[in-house]
Amino acid sequence: MFGVDLHTHSLISDGTLSPEQLVQAAVDVKIHTLALTDHDTMDGLARAQMYAQDHDIQIISGVEISSQWSRENTKKSYGVHIIALNMQDDAPIRIMLEKQKKVRAERAQTICNLLEKCIDFDIYPDVIAKVDGHADRVTRTHIAKTLVEKNIVSRPQQAFDRFLKEGKKAFVKFDGVGLKETIEVIHASQGFAVLAHPTRYDLSATNIRYLIELFAGFGGDAVELPSHSEPLSTRQMVDRMIQQFGLGVSIGSDFHGDNMPWIKLGHTPKVNEGQRGIWESFR
Ligand code: AMP
Ligand code: MN
Ligand code: MN
Ligand code: MN
Repeated sequence: MFGVDLHTHSLISDGTLSPEQLVQAAVDVKIHTLALTDHDTMDGLARAQMYAQDHDIQIISGVEISSQWSRENTKKSYGVHIIALNMQDDAPIRIMLEKQKKVRAERAQTICNLLEKCIDFDIYPDVIAKVDGHADRVTRTHIAKTLVEKNIVSRPQQAFDRFLKEGKKAFVKFDGVGLKETIEVIHASQGFAVLAHPTRYDLSATNIRYLIELFAGFGGDAVELPSHSEPLSTRQMVDRMIQQFGLGVSIGSDFHGDNMPWIKLGHTPKVNEGQRGIWESFR
């Protein structure tokens, strides 16, 4: 436990704790610096900050942005998650998030339409009920849980493997903001841009390197360190790239509450000597 967790989700996206419950849980495990980083929304931030006023914890504004990048001279684009942290001026990023929310809402409907062709009924109403009618908060986690409840699959992972992941019948690419623009908008909001979980995109080592170099070239600030659950060799590879491209580091658990019970709030990887923690630059 280090007291810093800069990657967490609440039930405003695909976590299971309310923003208030998340802050309380963080206080309970002695986190002093917490970022709430829901998917493409900052709608839980005010609640977390309000609750934190009566507690000994600093809430960092955050959001996990569904972005995309491509290799030069190729058409194929790859999804990537960029975490925006510690914005001092929300206005630019909120404008961008409005577009992201539209993409997310429409994609939820498209995924459900594709699923209907596979399972012969429409789960969209049940999916929407899970997000209290906020279509722009639907993630594939919600859809996977609905498929479990309808006995189409036995576990959420099976929903991804059979229908929702890339290459499967109900996969829909998130056609979000490009990587360069994502970083520019974060900087216009005076925030920091963090490349989330670099080794979790099913990319080859060559493509991970390409992505990190691209991210650094666009002015990205820090790379999230791989979690303890990943092999040491993976961590060492990322450490080398961080050093080579002169990037800072961020640490976060990617806590999702009971949706991913194996991930514990505040369980973050150890920072190496010589690595520059992005939180040291927060005001
Ligand atoms: P979305 O932003 O709608 O694409 O949903 C992404 C979320 O779904 C991620 O943040 C994870 O929480 C979850 N997820 C993505 N891929 C998988 C997978 N292969 N297995 C389980 N959960 C996944
Ligand atoms: Mn998630
Ligand atoms: Mn992510
Ligand atoms: Mn996340």
